[in-house]
Amino acid sequence: MQSKLPRVGTTIFTVMSRRAEELGAINLSQGFPDYDAPEDLRELLVAAVRGGHNQYPPMAGIAALREQLALDVARRYQRTVSPEAEVTIVPGATEAIFCAIHATVRPGDEVLVLDPCYDSYEPSIQLAGGRAVHVPLVPPRFAIDWQRVRDAVTPRTRLIITNTPHNPTGTIWSAADLHELEALVEATGIYVIADEVYEHLVYDGARHQSVLRSDALYQRSFAIFSFGKTYQVTGWKTGYCIAPPALSTEFRKVHQFVTFVAVAPIQHALAAFMQLRPEYSAGLPGLFQAKRDLLGTALRATSFRFEPAAGTFFQLLDYRAIADRPDTEFVDWLIREHGVAAIPISVFCDEAPDTRLIRLCFAKRDDTLQRAAARLARL
Ligand code: PMP
Ligand code: GLN
Repeated sequence: MQSKLPRVGTTIFTVMSRRAEELGAINLSQGFPDYDAPEDLRELLVAAVRGGHNQYPPMAGIAALREQLALDVARRYQRTVSPEAEVTIVPGATEAIFCAIHATVRPGDEVLVLDPCYDSYEPSIQLAGGRAVHVPLVPPRFAIDWQRVRDAVTPRTRLIITNTPHNPTGTIWSAADLHELEALVEATGIYVIADEVYEHLVYDGARHQSVLRSDALYQRSFAIFSFGKTYQVTGWKTGYCIAPPALSTEFRKVHQFVTFVAVAPIQHALAAFMQLRPEYSAGLPGLFQAKRDLLGTALRATSFRFEPAAGTFFQLLDYRAIADRPDTEFVDWLIREHGVAAIPISVFCDEAPDTRLIRLCFAKRDDTLQRAAARLARL
């Protein structure tokens, strides 16, 4: 059969986690916690199943969860959204990205992506008949060169996909970046998919620059979030999209034929948890900043060089002082010879950048981070 995605293999996350398991390596590759989710949240899921929430929920999500999300958005981003018309619950942010792309992109359309970018974007664009136009972020800090972004716009540009806090580099947007995006959208009328799954994970007192903060942007945006990141339940695969009514209508037309609904008892558990512990997410920056710093302190004794991540639960490390070989070879050597699984950066790029960087996930128990750092100190 002729593949519709000839350049696509198995995702790097699946490949590295599988190898980590086979080799018994410490897995700092795929982004997921190696500790359990809050106990009361797990209990609420058990209660939801026992309580009989086991049949199809409404297509756009249960009202109680959408209402909690609307309250949360009003509280944190000062934006009033209609739970009915503007909030849609889906089985994971990956599906939300797919649906938003398929709601907007037509054959021949161009979509701007900023490299390195999350690996689901381009295949989803291709399946919609579109073409990803790659604009590289500028190392070493992976800042956005907005002039290059503007230069990449053509009459066929339909959409830009943005991601802050950024996976895999751990950078975050400034207010100036948000203004640049506003100006771009105003000048071109393109749509925005704002991948904000790490919205809570910003450090050193910084503020998350959500498209939900901007009236001009919100009108043309699908803002996408993941409960997996916020509540440390990546395996629950539940996320949501916030978009103005007309965009949400089109988004739902796709969603209803991709999966139709997100899992019912999970929605009930999340709604109850948000109601019981609205303050939970405010504790996340402190929790993860402490992990970032624990890893950072332990890595100071190594030959890796790094700037502490400004956001996400990923830390980039520069290994130039240790080896001068491509990152895919370096991670292969690292897992085989030193028992630590990491993610190469080049796999998220159309053209490999001239860098020597790997990504480590620090959403791990303190002892996991310490054991990994001890192994890395031997290099
Ligand atoms: N976007 C980014 C940038 C991510 O890191 C992830 C994490 N897997 C996703 C989207 C997808 O999230 P989910 O697991 O909810 O599908
Ligand atoms: N987002 C996670 C990461 O970047 C992994 C998601 C996945 O495995 N698909 O590591």
